[in-house]
Amino acid sequence: MQLRNSWRKRPVLVYPIPPAPPTAILVDGFRSSGNTRVFENGWSEEAASFAPAAIAAAPAQLDALRGTPIPSLRNALIALVRPGEPRLTEDERERLWRAFRVPVFEQRIDEAGCLLASECEAHDGLHIESPELPPRDGEVIETTPCGCGRTSPRLIALERVENLRKVAAYAR
Ligand SMILES: [Zn+2]
Repeated sequence: MQLRNSWRKRPVLVYPIPPAPPTAILVDGFRSSGNTRVFENGWSEEAASFAPAAIAAAPAQLDALRGTPIPSLRNALIALVRPGEPRLTEDERERLWRAFRVPVFEQRIDEAGCLLASECEAHDGLHIESPELPPRDGEVIETTPCGCGRTSPRLIALERVENLRKVAAYAR
């Protein structure tokens, strides 16, 4: 009974732009639901034969997939970052984009897999979904409305803020 209960409590992946296409989740802690399926042992033949259009995994797992052809991957990569793990850098994003040519969405999750902050289709920071989430070193909180229309505060990496400033300075 205990096992069943703990299984039931596992969260479902919150897909960035619903409805979720076939999505392979390569970390544990989640529950398979609808089109999202958990492959607790990471990328495998089984995961490949599921033909995912999106993959959700830790940044290091996504990075390790770069040499692997995944023709079904047409929708998105979701980088799942737990507390204490490094966030996705701009360089990593660039490498993933060059390898797969699909949008990358970062999500912060807690140890139990619950969503703390998530990147939207505007790709302009991570909407804070939980008040318990503090910014990390190198991040600021942005409160201006987002391009997606939502007004919740967002975490933005300082390196991104500085890049935008440089672009603005060139445009002047
Ligand atoms: Zn947004």
